[in-house]
Amino acid sequence: MKNNNRSNLITSKLPDVGTSIFAEMSRLAADTNAINLSQGFPSFDPPEALLDRISYHLHNGDNQYAPMAGVPALRDAVARKTQRLYDRTANPESEITICSGATEGIFSAIQAIVRRGDEVIVFDPAYDSYEPSITLAGGITRHNALRVDDKGFDFAIDWQLLEDTINRNTRLIILNFPHNPTGAILQRRDLDQLATLVRNTDCYLLSDEVYEHIIFDGEVHQSLLSHDELWPRTMVISSFGKTFHATGWKVGYCIAPQELSAEFRKVHQFVTFTVNTPVQYGIANFLDSSPEFYARLPAFYEEKRDLFCRLLEGSRFSLQPARSTFFQVLDYADISDETDTELAIRWTRELGVASIPLSVFYDEPIAATRLRFCFAKDSAILEAAAKKLRAI
Ligand code: PMP
Ligand code: GLN
Repeated sequence: MKNNNRSNLITSKLPDVGTSIFAEMSRLAADTNAINLSQGFPSFDPPEALLDRISYHLHNGDNQYAPMAGVPALRDAVARKTQRLYDRTANPESEITICSGATEGIFSAIQAIVRRGDEVIVFDPAYDSYEPSITLAGGITRHNALRVDDKGFDFAIDWQLLEDTINRNTRLIILNFPHNPTGAILQRRDLDQLATLVRNTDCYLLSDEVYEHIIFDGEVHQSLLSHDELWPRTMVISSFGKTFHATGWKVGYCIAPQELSAEFRKVHQFVTFTVNTPVQYGIANFLDSSPEFYARLPAFYEEKRDLFCRLLEGSRFSLQPARSTFFQVLDYADISDETDTELAIRWTRELGVASIPLSVFYDEPIAATRLRFCFAKDSAILEAAAKKLRAI
């Protein structure tokens, strides 16, 4: 019999994928009027000078298609920043591409590199866009859990596990440091260790460094761009959304050696073709003229982290202050036996504070009693949320 119900005919390419946890929790927070510390976005605006520059370009004719790889002024500014911070010379003509946020950069990089049947290693807890992008490329995701210390904190790469997982089908390893959701960071010796493990392989590296400027306690971000041996096989993705308090603009970039960038651009041009023009010009101006803005980000967010952690003193949560990013993980083992997802939903509804359960970033079900809270918020919001959390 003919089936007139078209939806029954679709064999999903992503059968296990639902709506992202970030969208779901933000919607629940809005529906229940809860304080939304779930999805990661600031409660404050981008710098006024940057808004003025974008406004200038909006009103002065920069409203048509930008070049496919991004406006030259922005690629030049990214090249200068990359040279200054990571001592890496990247050619703005052929090695830097502006893309529609890190999400598009990650997707395009994966489509460009991963072939049917290739294996890709990700570290759990892993950001939600990696695996679906790998699946759509026909790749197979291999999950390595980050190792934790006795107290369950201090997430780090398990080098032995990684060595055991790499095989001749490994095409790509995806790293994300500073790490969402745990705030873990890399040290220089980690880059050397990685170089040793991939030395005699053909695998590429995709480094998601969207939190490159949000790192605390005097630590320095160890970009894969800064490592001479890793650079020829590396694609680094970053995003201005995190750096300029503008997650809604969706402007990011990919830095990779010429051959890799050429493949990246082949995909990028058919995913978005170009990124919106006036914002690119505005960011280009601001990036060059105000390097102090991102230089001050560590202190700016460290103050917020310290405030949030201080406000939680005397609560029943245990925590280790985040070492990077704008997320603080809280452990509720002494408070409840519920699963983290149940609790995140219940506390959004009943307590009025929304968070993200850590288990959603894992492939294997884990018995984690952890929730992630975004502290990119004005003090009054953090105070109101902490008051509710202290009352538990
Ligand atoms: N990677 C990580 C680790 C992220 O946290 C995010 C978003 N917060 C992204 C990628 C996506 O960035 P964008 O919004 O620029 O697409
Ligand atoms: N990266 C943001 C987070 O971790 C969410 C981005 C999104 O909603 N896709 O909260």
